Amino acid sequence: MGTNWNHLADDVLSGTTISREEALRVASAPDEDLLAVLHAAFRIRHRHHGREVRVHVLQNAKSGVCAEDCAFCSQSLHFESDVPQYGMQDVEELVDGAKEAHDMGAVTFCIVTATRGPTDEEVETVCEATRRIKEQWDMDVCASLGLLRDGQAERLAEAGVDRYNHNLETSENHFSNIVQTHDWGDRVRTVKQAKAAGMEACCGGIVGMKEADEDRVDLAFALREIGVESVPINLLNPRPGTPLGDATPLSPQEALKTLALFRFVHPEADVRIAGGREEVLRQMQPLALYPANSLFTDGYLTTPGQEDSKDHRMIKQAGFTPAVVGAETCGDGDVQSDAPKYMEGESR
Ligand code: SF4
Repeated sequence: MGTNWNHLADDVLSGTTISREEALRVASAPDEDLLAVLHAAFRIRHRHHGREVRVHVLQNAKSGVCAEDCAFCSQSLHFESDVPQYGMQDVEELVDGAKEAHDMGAVTFCIVTATRGPTDEEVETVCEATRRIKEQWDMDVCASLGLLRDGQAERLAEAGVDRYNHNLETSENHFSNIVQTHDWGDRVRTVKQAKAAGMEACCGGIVGMKEADEDRVDLAFALREIGVESVPINLLNPRPGTPLGDATPLSPQEALKTLALFRFVHPEADVRIAGGREEVLRQMQPLALYPANSLFTDGYLTTPGQEDSKDHRMIKQAGFTPAVVGAETCGDGDVQSDAPKYMEGESR
């Protein structure tokens, strides 16, 4: 007999933690159950996030010069790619990026560097940029700077960084097939350091890296055990020149079931559709808003994405609402003057 997905959602809504076996059933549900699975995931999403969609914008603050060897990544110096190479951007460039993100209606600006881990100088650049951003806009700042050394998480938290992103990427079991230059435990340690310093943990992974459904389930439960607040799920968009350049992309159905799996295991977290959304989901992108409550707009670190105006239109046409911050920064009542540009007209 097939699974009653609504009953499974009822269990989650009543506070029961889904079992590994049930999670595996979500991940491997037959395609004909897809809409029923998404409906059940939506009920959980709706309880905690309503119809709101949190829009994030990324800035690649240091590109293409990473000494690590993550098999999916075109920013690794181990592989041939035409990704632009540049060192750490300065404070001004980061603040300018935050302004653009604010104008796109982003609730979170994510500063990302391609590196094993940051120098103390790079940490200071992010701290100073964060202080400047926070002075001007009511927007969360997320930093993604790789493995942290003692004391760096505390400095970032003190400067006002709200979240630290460091993905586990895949299950502990599959990790050594993907990365050799550091191990899964190194990543877990950094996420725990970030949390201990008072930042929220943004931590997810990439699916479509030749892993089994069991690996996706293991990743979801490992993240639950750490207690991450935000779960970005990348859908592998194979990059030429990387060891995974020949991987077959997931089908849209498989990707959607994977997002539902993460919603079932993380009822309250921000589940974010990250890189690969456009290529993998194609015309089925709006369906991802049923399990997920967040997305990146206007592209990713090394690949272009759907422009922000199209994303905002997609969100609204699917019956969802972009989350809004910023209006409260207008102490004089001039709400529109600080409103994100996408709100200022109906042209989008
Ligand atoms: S550590 Fe980050 S930037 Fe470096 S190769 Fe791995 S994924 Fe790419």
